[in-house]
Amino acid sequence: MKLAVVRERAPGETRVAATPETVKKFIALGASVAVEPGAGAAASIADADYAAAGAELAASAVAGANIILGVQGPDPAALAAAAPGAWVVAGLDPFGQGPGGGRARVDAYAAAGLEALAMEFMPRITRAQSMDILSSQSNLAGYKAVIEASNLYGRAFPMMMTAAGTISAAKAFIMGVGVAGLQAIATARRLGAQVSATDVRSATREQIISLGAKPIFVETVAGIEGEGAGGYATEMSEEYQKAQAELVSSHIAKQDIVITTALIPGRAAPRLISDAQIASMKPGSVIFDLAVAQGGNVEGSVPDQVVERHGVKILGYSNTPAKLPADASALFARNLYNFLAAFWDKEQGKPVLDEEIGGAIRLTQGGKVVNPRLLG
Ligand code: NAD
Repeated sequence: MKLAVVRERAPGETRVAATPETVKKFIALGASVAVEPGAGAAASIADADYAAAGAELAASAVAGANIILGVQGPDPAALAAAAPGAWVVAGLDPFGQGPGGGRARVDAYAAAGLEALAMEFMPRITRAQSMDILSSQSNLAGYKAVIEASNLYGRAFPMMMTAAGTISAAKAFIMGVGVAGLQAIATARRLGAQVSATDVRSATREQIISLGAKPIFVETVAGIEGEGAGGYATEMSEEYQKAQAELVSSHIAKQDIVITTALIPGRAAPRLISDAQIASMKPGSVIFDLAVAQGGNVEGSVPDQVVERHGVKILGYSNTPAKLPADASALFARNLYNFLAAFWDKEQGKPVLDEEIGGAIRLTQGGKVVNPRLLG
């Protein structure tokens, strides 16, 4: 069983899908591992470190490989030398619009006879938590969003009582309290901000309070009870959206920092902040739009650019986890290892998936697109 680790080709991608630690573990399972030279360079992992862990370094790493590991999906045309029916295990962005994702790329994997496994389709069940790339990467993104916002903010976060006078604490508002939002709350609190947060899922209220932040919720229209479908939000009714807009309008004008993280799987990100609401904020305030690559929660946000509107700075990265390449790679690589190791069949010397997880993440098999989320 040969595993190949590809060097990421997408612009701005700094992560790598395996680390020397996971290479060693794969070898301990009985696999051989080949790594493309330079694969870890942007994440501060030298080729020599992979070699020391037991990997073969080769430009032709994918030749004869049974499993190809990537952060983003590699170009199917570059995988022609892989073993027939090889697995491609990566974040495949099947609903994406970019050149490295989307339905056309999935169709190309099918046409190439590859079995594409989309790690972002991992079901949200307890035993799959350690395999969940969305969680591991969102957690780091939530942290980084607050750090970047604080960097653009011309004031300090904590209250400071000094001989020259008192500086008041920054007020931070986190919109969307999933994995990224929870980490954003925790990070903003650690930096000393006064934090409030909102979500459409009622289950997040307790989580917000337990992190020492103030919940801000639409009370007039019911949100999503419990965790929501598979832990995810859905698109809200017009009535809810109107009530939410009113609530945000009254709250946002008093905020210094806003971090938006709201996503709906398979759809464009919901628009949460309008230009008029930005205009109501104090000059010097900062908004970080973590959903900018999915269409943006904030009107006027542009990926990878600081946009200034009404004296408010708005920023969002197309790939936030890639700004923390070493940690993001370490966690991503462990997610992939945890996934393959959990299904490793010692007798057959390869992973054998069950239907609950295999059926959820498998996009293509036997030359066809097979995933129900893509066929519906
Ligand atoms: P996500 O990235 O899909 O969305 C981020 C947040 O935005 C969510 O909390 C969502 O409810 C919220 N949101 C969507 N539309 C909104 C709107 N209009 N206004 C305000 N907020 C809006 O979510 P996520 O970070 O992937 O996590 C979602 C849930 O899944 C969490 O409860 C998390 O704890 C759970 N989870 C479970 C597992 C597991 O059990 N294996 C793994 C990961 C996450």
